[in-house]
Amino acid sequence: MDTLDAFARAKLAQLEEAALRRHLVDTERPARENVPVIIRGGRRLVSFSCNDYLGLSRHPKIKAAAIAALDAYGTGAGASRLVTGNHPLFAELEVRLAKLKGSEAALVFGSGYLANLGVIPALAGDADVVLVDELAHACIFAGARLSGAARRVFRHNDVAHARAILGAERARFRHALLVTDGVFSMDGDLAPVVELAELCAACDTWLMTDDAHGLGVLAKGRGSSFGGGAKAGVPLQMGTLSKALGSYGGYLCASRAVTDLLTSRARTLVYSTGLPPANAAAAIAALDVVEADPALTQRPLAKARAFARRLGLPDPQSPIVPLRLGSAEAALEASNLLETEGYLAVAIRPPTVPEGSARLRFAFCADHADDDVARLAEVVAKRVAFRGGAAARCETGA
Ligand SMILES: *Cc1c(COP(=O)(O)O)cnc(C)c1O
Repeated sequence: MDTLDAFARAKLAQLEEAALRRHLVDTERPARENVPVIIRGGRRLVSFSCNDYLGLSRHPKIKAAAIAALDAYGTGAGASRLVTGNHPLFAELEVRLAKLKGSEAALVFGSGYLANLGVIPALAGDADVVLVDELAHACIFAGARLSGAARRVFRHNDVAHARAILGAERARFRHALLVTDGVFSMDGDLAPVVELAELCAACDTWLMTDDAHGLGVLAKGRGSSFGGGAKAGVPLQMGTLSKALGSYGGYLCASRAVTDLLTSRARTLVYSTGLPPANAAAAIAALDVVEADPALTQRPLAKARAFARRLGLPDPQSPIVPLRLGSAEAALEASNLLETEGYLAVAIRPPTVPEGSARLRFAFCADHADDDVARLAEVVAKRVAFRGGAAARCETGA
């Protein structure tokens, strides 16, 4: 018996048993629609599971910019950025990102995941400690693990817990880095960025936020560091071009010294091919739209609020609204039910979220029709048994 296939089959059987096996489903997102629609199995569904919050992946001007770049520069970068893959569009994009995020410089990576996997290990190592919010995105944990630094997990958005850890342990380590989602991807709540910035400043700790779901949709598009108007003291603002900007790629906004260091030391930048230039062109055109149209950036959150109000859920802080259902089976069942009504809301199950907190996760977009939002709320209210939208605390997280 082939041990490799035996291993794979046994693992799959376990996943199947726990309702945790995942499948790829062919999905088209037609670019000529003016609402977020997907086609699956021949069916047209209004999607509440796309992170294309502003519909920019199908914006005519952005598509045109990408097509022009594709035509002029081809489909791929040809090499890593340090070899021959550093198209001038990257410098233009980095200037634009730095300006929007109020930082001195920016550095573009192949994806958000690759950014976290490159940045964290380049800044922290054996003698250091990395503190991570228990509900932070998987790639933050992966980056922290890869760094070889000591890892400490603090309770979700619990500044006092992070303070206690730093108070007890900061002195034992050379450097400390605290990393959190700015907007939590599965719960939609925001990190207490201002309080964390104060804590980190007081404890000689570097603060890094992952604003994958903040860019383009919070604070006129500037993201979670700008909730109070002025920029909070976040020296490391990471994010993705793949969500509200409708393109692909990741970035870090930071000081010039930091981005210069990462250019030499972030392994996912040094040893991975540069983004296709067309992705950079699309992201630049998307930033044009975001900066020119603040009203557009406010619409996803407004739709999320309208939905939550109809269901008596807590007022959302971002366009993401979780509906906790408990078991993976219950989440799958609710998702299937919505599908029969013409709506797509993918079930989110462990290990993406803590055990017992499987959920539907609704992502609201600027061009969702108000009628669809209202009807979705009606279907959910009548036919789905839910427990409210508050963030699930990971009891076993620490
Ligand atoms: C989506 C996401 C990422 C990964 O970004 P990609 O560009 O898709 O690789 C990282 N962090 C968070 C919080 C995310 O939601």
